Amino acid sequence: MTTFTSLETTSRLLVVATGNPGKAAEIQEYMASLNLQLELKPKDLEVEETGKTFLANACLKASEVAKATKQWAIGDDSGLTVDALDGRPGIYCARYAPTVAEQIDRVLRELEDNPNRQAQFVCALAIARPDGTIALKAEGICYGEILYSPRGNGGFGYDPIFYVPSQEKTFAQMSPESKRSLSHRGQAFQILLPQIKGILS
Ligand code: IMP
Repeated sequence: MTTFTSLETTSRLLVVATGNPGKAAEIQEYMASLNLQLELKPKDLEVEETGKTFLANACLKASEVAKATKQWAIGDDSGLTVDALDGRPGIYCARYAPTVAEQIDRVLRELEDNPNRQAQFVCALAIARPDGTIALKAEGICYGEILYSPRGNGGFGYDPIFYVPSQEKTFAQMSPESKRSLSHRGQAFQILLPQIKGILS
């Protein structure tokens, strides 16, 4: 397993159940203040996302990775839901097309010039004990609009087309700190962090 944060040798280990580098980097930032040693899940340990909701898939990822590694694990399932596309791509974000550029293209193509651009980013987080049982869960949501073309170079995934009116910026145009403070993942971590402190660090 790759260790990407080691604060103290005596701190508790938490395995991050994702293979997505953008997500892993954000999760690492949110947890930087905790006395935890974070490790990425083994690359060859793939969890099939058979759940029908973000929360079900976050629990699956945390639980399967915890059982396989016999360690505490955190799972994140997240994505973009577009109102005019009946919630798509939703839980299928990562599977919507082979590359990120094609995923963005597909959303823009399907929306065409539909004036309803309302969308939400949703993030579900789950923490599992080494036996796979779920200890904590939380969900966060961030409301925004889908632009007609991508803007900005930061972030990852669908960030360049997700515009937050209050900031007059897409996620990809924001500083990592701004995205962290108002994003779906930020809101889910706001709920989870005080509870993690109680049981893990
Ligand atoms: P998951 O790994 O199955 O949860 O898929 C998550 C997918 O949703 C990612 O691959 C991205 O396409 C998208 N996604 C989730 N969170 C974000 C975000 O913060 N910014 C941009 N795209 C995101």
